[in-house]
Amino acid sequence: MALLDILEFPDPRLRTQAKPVTQFDAALRKLTEDMLETMYDAPGIGLAATQINVHQQVIVMDVSEDKSQPMVFINPQITVVGGEKEYEEGCLSVPGFHENVVRPDVIHVKALNAQGEAFELQADGLLSVCLQHEMDHLNGVLFVDHISRLKRDRIRRKLEKQHKVAAPRS
Ligand SMILES: [Zn+2]
Repeated sequence: MALLDILEFPDPRLRTQAKPVTQFDAALRKLTEDMLETMYDAPGIGLAATQINVHQQVIVMDVSEDKSQPMVFINPQITVVGGEKEYEEGCLSVPGFHENVVRPDVIHVKALNAQGEAFELQADGLLSVCLQHEMDHLNGVLFVDHISRLKRDRIRRKLEKQHKVAAPRS
């Protein structure tokens, strides 16, 4: 397994639309394993392939307390069931910043696992928030797009400053 580099806001590659996965092969399973390792190492509770500059519809998550329930969602489709909830969200691509975001609470998800088998689930609470946040990534959307422009610009300026100070990455 390998740790992958995570793109950071305002990197324009984070705005790429991910394409559906068509090949359920060993390379896809390695991708999901590397993404899970990268997510646990960060540490985070979710990671979308977009964040590691792979533009396929792949999401990994683990919202369990003891980090024992890795989940993989390939080509996920979400429909809103109802409700509304506000959560303080953060993102591995927007390190160091947390802001409240309002989203639908209950959602229904259809997806495939790494073997290409279909599954469905209904989610609310943290699982729902995290899935919607990762789903946004696959569509080139970041949680900072859900907050005020003033706050977003402030975060962008601070991160741009950090990126300039940091040593150039390969
Ligand atoms: Zn994120």
